[in-house]
Amino acid sequence: MEKIGFIGLGNMGKPMATNLVKAGYQVTVYDIYQPSVEELVESGAASGNTPKKVSENSDVVITMLPSSPHVEQVVLGQDGVLEGIRQGCLFIDMSSIAPDVSIKVAKRCRDKGVGVLDAPVTGGIMGAQAGTLGIMVGGSKADLARATPILNVMGKKIMHVGDVGMGQTAKVCNQIMVGTSLCAMSEALVLGVKAGADPEVLQQILISGAARSWALEFRAPAVFEGNFNPGFMINLQHKDLGLALDTGKEFHVPLALTALAYQQYEAARAKGLGEADHAGVIKVLEDLVGVEVRKGVNKIS
Ligand code: NAD
Repeated sequence: MEKIGFIGLGNMGKPMATNLVKAGYQVTVYDIYQPSVEELVESGAASGNTPKKVSENSDVVITMLPSSPHVEQVVLGQDGVLEGIRQGCLFIDMSSIAPDVSIKVAKRCRDKGVGVLDAPVTGGIMGAQAGTLGIMVGGSKADLARATPILNVMGKKIMHVGDVGMGQTAKVCNQIMVGTSLCAMSEALVLGVKAGADPEVLQQILISGAARSWALEFRAPAVFEGNFNPGFMINLQHKDLGLALDTGKEFHVPLALTALAYQQYEAARAKGLGEADHAGVIKVLEDLVGVEVRKGVNKIS
């Protein structure tokens, strides 16, 4: 079995790395947040002190970091992955970052004779814990074939989208759908409740027909409970819609709905909700019109 390095042990990275350990891989981990490293070490991983050290001990290095600057720093920076990784090894970035940064990092890796894949994911924390993530991959067929046994531990649906950067492009498209549909859900539910509807009845009607969506089916119940624990943070959703807008600019594709949704998440961040779950974007409209879309509101007696 290949030796794995895993960098970035947050909400997603921690369960993903834990599943690799459970599957029998020798895993060396690193995160700037030491308690997460210690948790993984208790589960059977080894600790590397820097991304360079992790890479020196690994055949395949995986990153799961917040965004583009973090990946650039961890891979290309001082004591970074590129300083420690050997020719013939494989680097897989599973974070959601800008496609052009992904291509830039990949070029530096390939110049050193290192294989590279961008492999962002969908399916959230529950998918990470269950090992059922959707994984969208950019890179060569040969590198993907090498990575497949490892990716199979973390995900169930692994799709090859094209060369490096194309996994990130697919993820950007995914995030347009997720981010805008949560905003659409906010408008539908806030309007319905303001006009007198029971939110749970309204949701049941909406998911029974063409209005059905992941947002309504799986995030509305948390809104009804007033539970805005992440999940997927508003800060990350905002970041991903920003990446979508940048990609739209690059390819001259107007993204009008994405731009509006981006501003709604910006408003949520301005209200101090950056670390709340992305369904918390509904609070912007709730506060504006003075209703709360919660269980029991407008109950028919
Ligand atoms: P997170 O903020 O929970 O975790 C990020 C981790 O990276 C943290 O543990 C942090 O300490 C670590 N980190 C930051 N800078 C570092 C550095 N320089 N060196 C080492 N470690 C560093 O984020 P997350 O929710 O795990 O998301 C990770 C990525 O996955 C993001 O790109 C996100 O957009 C994407 N994603 C998240 C979800 C989700 O549901 N949370 C779903 C799909 C994709």
